Amino acid sequence: MTAAVAGIRPEAGAPAADARLEEVRRALDPEFLALLDWDWERRVITFPRVHPVIGLPDCPVPNCPLAITVATWPMCRGCIERWGRTDVPLEEFLRIPKTSTMRGGQLPCAVAQCERPRDTAAAKLCATHRLQRSQALAGIGIEEFLAHPKVVGLAGLGPCLVAACYLDRVSGKYPYCKAHTQRLRTVREQTGFDEGLWRRTERAVCSTREVSLRGLPDGLVAEALYALSSRIDNGFKLRPECLRPLYDRLRAQQVTRLEEVADPEAAGYSREQVMMIRAANLALARLNTTPETERVKDIWDMSVFGHNGVVPFTAITQKPLREAMKIWVYDDLPRRRNKNAVHHARAIVSAVAMLSESLRLQRPDRGEVPALWGRADIVAYCNRMGHLTATGKQSASRRLACTRFVRRVLLRFRTLGLTGPESVLEGMPVDFAIWPEDMPDEPEDAEAGRDLPEAVMRVLCAHLAAWRR
Ligand SMILES: [Zn+2]
Ligand SMILES: [Zn+2]
Ligand SMILES: [Zn+2]
Repeated sequence: MTAAVAGIRPEAGAPAADARLEEVRRALDPEFLALLDWDWERRVITFPRVHPVIGLPDCPVPNCPLAITVATWPMCRGCIERWGRTDVPLEEFLRIPKTSTMRGGQLPCAVAQCERPRDTAAAKLCATHRLQRSQALAGIGIEEFLAHPKVVGLAGLGPCLVAACYLDRVSGKYPYCKAHTQRLRTVREQTGFDEGLWRRTERAVCSTREVSLRGLPDGLVAEALYALSSRIDNGFKLRPECLRPLYDRLRAQQVTRLEEVADPEAAGYSREQVMMIRAANLALARLNTTPETERVKDIWDMSVFGHNGVVPFTAITQKPLREAMKIWVYDDLPRRRNKNAVHHARAIVSAVAMLSESLRLQRPDRGEVPALWGRADIVAYCNRMGHLTATGKQSASRRLACTRFVRRVLLRFRTLGLTGPESVLEGMPVDFAIWPEDMPDEPEDAEAGRDLPEAVMRVLCAHLAAWRR
């Protein structure tokens, strides 16, 4: 077990026994987690300074602790805004040290062994020591204050109780950091305010590089990290300011697994968030899928086979026929390396779906038992195809293509051994096949039947003779 895995708090979120959580967690690349300075205890993503996709360089203004979040900007957002209010040329502005900063995060109080955070970055002291300096010690100089015998370090007040927050409390009165104490003062006036719920769902206070995943259950944190790494692998230049509102909303809606957000649009997520959630759910669905796990599904994600798009088998309603068709496509795919593979598979599946529909509509048993299929069903299928063409519901070329596909598929079912004992199409009669004379009368159809395997032709002819007797 790695330190990271051991570090997960068992009481938070999904139990360790959750196999899916384990699966997602195992899929997380330790190098990626190290890149984000990830620690399962702290649960805060820190964007790196240097990275081709998500690197956020430091703001070049002296004393500015923030990052440049827009690649084309020469400074951080705050410095751009400050510069906008001056007439100073950029080159000169870039040399002027920043005097005060509104940074997320906390710096420790300057008093030796004081565990409390600074009241403000510029004050250098915690609130208590700041008060002591200005009142009890009549505003003495900072160096003098730090050396004063009455000035001793104070014990920390504990962490802020907002789940998403990783800052320390600043006073004994409220169990929150400074920013959350201020936010509480405004929100608690609202009618029906529930402080417990607010603690669980309130957003974090982060510096420009940081994004908090605190307050989210383990499973969702693992999913968010996995989705993030997959998005970055795909070259998406994600920024903290697009991740923060997403995680804040997931926290506010108390989501435990991303798949719960099946319709992010309806749930009120922004367009960008909708795209991120869809991509995340897709990446998670593909996690650890193999052709072997995909081939049993009724809708195949063709990326698992190295293609794009999906192949749905759902229009084939008879289970034996649908399963046989999956075997057929699975067997056929390796021979089709080009980008038409999916198009081809879909065309053949939809042709067989026409046969499925014909069996369903024209047989009292809806065609569920392959052993009961027969010549009459083929005749009914061919007549129906002719009728659909005659009434303009399908073109003559589609009729021809479908019939050709069905002929090929039915023959291949036999050579794949699917009609044998205990196979999916057990007992499918040999006369359940499209014969050359069943083919629609089209000029390009002159060579119908030529590609039938010789062995199959022999069996067919033998049975044909028997059937005609
Ligand atoms: Zn700056
Ligand atoms: Zn202090
Ligand atoms: Zn806080």
